[in-house]
Amino acid sequence: MTSMTTDIDTCAVPRRPAASTRRTMKAAVFVAPGRIELQERAVPEIGFNDALVRVTTTTICGTDVHILKGEYPVAPGRIIGHEPVGVIEALGIAVSGYRVGQRVIAGAITPCGQCHSCLDGHPAQCGGHAIGGWKFGNTIDGCQAEFVRVPNAMANLAPIPDGLTDEQVLMCPDILSTGFGGAESGNIRIGDTVAVFAQGPIGLCATAGAKLRGATLVIRVDAVPTRLAQARQLGADVVVDFRAEDPVARILDLTGGRGVDVAIEALGTQATFESCLRVLRPGGTLSSLGVYSGKLELPLGPFAAGLGDHHLVTTLCPGGKERMRRLMNIVGSGRVDLKPLVTHRFTLDQIEQAYELFASQRDGVLKVAITP
Ligand SMILES: [Zn+2]
Ligand SMILES: [Zn+2]
Repeated sequence: MTSMTTDIDTCAVPRRPAASTRRTMKAAVFVAPGRIELQERAVPEIGFNDALVRVTTTTICGTDVHILKGEYPVAPGRIIGHEPVGVIEALGIAVSGYRVGQRVIAGAITPCGQCHSCLDGHPAQCGGHAIGGWKFGNTIDGCQAEFVRVPNAMANLAPIPDGLTDEQVLMCPDILSTGFGGAESGNIRIGDTVAVFAQGPIGLCATAGAKLRGATLVIRVDAVPTRLAQARQLGADVVVDFRAEDPVARILDLTGGRGVDVAIEALGTQATFESCLRVLRPGGTLSSLGVYSGKLELPLGPFAAGLGDHHLVTTLCPGGKERMRRLMNIVGSGRVDLKPLVTHRFTLDQIEQAYELFASQRDGVLKVAITP
């Protein structure tokens, strides 16, 4: 976990109340590259500031597939998953303002709310080191399990408004927060022209976010027909199939050669990053959401040799309860409908099957709902 963690956070205390008599639970565990398997594990103990949440719905993220493939290292034995929807099972003795039985979500990123990064406006970098706010399924056990320990519960538990189903809020912990984050970090203004490269679930949410922030022309690039259709539903004005045409030439054409005001990268490859730069006007913003591996190179022509007044900004999924509250408000308002993103459903017992489907991107899969 983070350097800001104190002994008090991790020391086990009696739960209040001891609602659960269960001692073990099923959980999806990273064993080794290529192997995530369902195991019987101890139900987590909680500390003074923690909550125990009984997971009612969760999902698999593209990042989990990176973990499965060994491309993002986590410790063998780690319970995976960072998108919890559930019910409070028990609260640490220092936690107030919540009750057992309450339906809640927690963000994929669980900032402590107290360290200098959190208080300085960068809670995703909690603890003062890069990616420090991402704890679930990374540096502490995650939520592809029957129960999950939520650290710093008062900073992270967000009650689900009445009337919203698990599936309606399932995208809030990560996908919606990250996708919207790309639009927000891009500082999209009313009347902007925006290109979004890659229309996976995060790219789709970035498109919806661009529209909500007032972009008047949103151009989405992908090659998967179901995703392009979804893109239209979520607010794309023009969809470009990069297999059928050169997306850079098409976007420059659509903008009269001017280039877009904001280009959002939602995949994490050299090609998409570079394309973003090639369609960006001087002074525009490249908002990057992708997770890159290996080396990333800046082509000097489109980068204007470093003199184009370009803004390059990266975003890790914003977390914390206030962020979650706002995102659930958006869902409740009906401004975006994310239910179509859930294309497949599995029980926790079937999670290995779910990983196989999700990792192979078969059958038009966008997101899977997993119910313990
Ligand atoms: Zn994720
Ligand atoms: Zn912090």
